[in-house]
Amino acid sequence: MVVKELNSIVSQRIEVTPSLVKLRVVPNGWELPDFKPGQYGVLGLPGSAPRSPFSDPEASQMDPEKIIMRAYSIASSSVAKEYIEFYIGLVRTGSLTPRLLNLKSGDKVWMGPKFKGMFTLSEVPSEFNLVLAATGTGVAPYISMIRSELAEGVRHRFAVIHGACHSTDLGYNDELKTLASANKNFTYLPILSHAQEEVIPWKGHEGFVQKLWTDGTLEKAWGLKPTPENTHVFLCGNPLMIESMLEMLAKEGFKKHSKKESGQVHTERFFVKL
Ligand SMILES: Cc1cc2nc3c(=O)[nH]c(=O)nc-3n(C[C@H](O)[C@H](O)[C@H](O)COP(=O)(O)OP(=O)(O)OC[C@H]3O[C@@H](n4cnc5c(N)ncnc54)[C@H](O)[C@@H]3O)c2cc1C
Repeated sequence: MVVKELNSIVSQRIEVTPSLVKLRVVPNGWELPDFKPGQYGVLGLPGSAPRSPFSDPEASQMDPEKIIMRAYSIASSSVAKEYIEFYIGLVRTGSLTPRLLNLKSGDKVWMGPKFKGMFTLSEVPSEFNLVLAATGTGVAPYISMIRSELAEGVRHRFAVIHGACHSTDLGYNDELKTLASANKNFTYLPILSHAQEEVIPWKGHEGFVQKLWTDGTLEKAWGLKPTPENTHVFLCGNPLMIESMLEMLAKEGFKKHSKKESGQVHTERFFVKL
């Protein structure tokens, strides 16, 4: 077996919490290809790479030479392309995230030379409003869309609904709040599922992403009801949120978008529901 060379370098590691990091990665001696905001790359490390002290011990021995690879959405701008930023959450029992979370600036990592994926704005006509709903690290592709094009105000209205357990897990809170205060067309709605555990009482929304749709919070913020005629909805992250939103949106006439059939709902599942 040909052992893959660790072809990239971590240029910066930004720790959001011990279980959540932003990794900025640059290619070592090769050119970054173009990509569309919303697409994903592949990161890899060998079984010999050490695991984060915050993870669980490995259930079974990994081949020290074999590269463990997983997909990660790109959070950085497709225009600036100075580095590729990934937003990664620790799965304590996982194979790759305990190793990725242990990386420091200057460490080597494998990054796939091509970026892929259909979870992009390419097939959304510009006159549509956008709802970008995510749980946890699922906000990453929206950060790339915003940094690359949405911040320039090309859409009528757009909203990020970000569900997380705790306020410390809202890794792009400052950037999104600043954008919302500077841009009338942008609505940022963070919502916490474990708000009662906050050290400093949380004054924002409590519950799950779906609530902000059903209780009319988004409609009130926009002054307009999102319908299939005026809005496309993106759903990213936890499959439970995605299934629940799909069911709810279907009742309001929204259809899933696919290669074969055009619709208004676009989905990216980060893992399989067990
Ligand atoms: C297109 C795409 C884009 C992705 N983008 C991102 C991203 O931007 N950031 C990110 O952190 N992850 C992202 N993921 C998930 C990522 O690919 C890995 O699945 C994840 O990091 C876990 O890898 P692991 O090797 O540590 O765990 P594994 O050893 O692969 O998984 C262990 C177990 O944990 C479950 N699991 C996996 N992920 C989670 C999770 N987040 N929460 C709870 N259980 C989980 C798996 O179903 C499995 O049963 C993306 C996945 C896809 C398909």
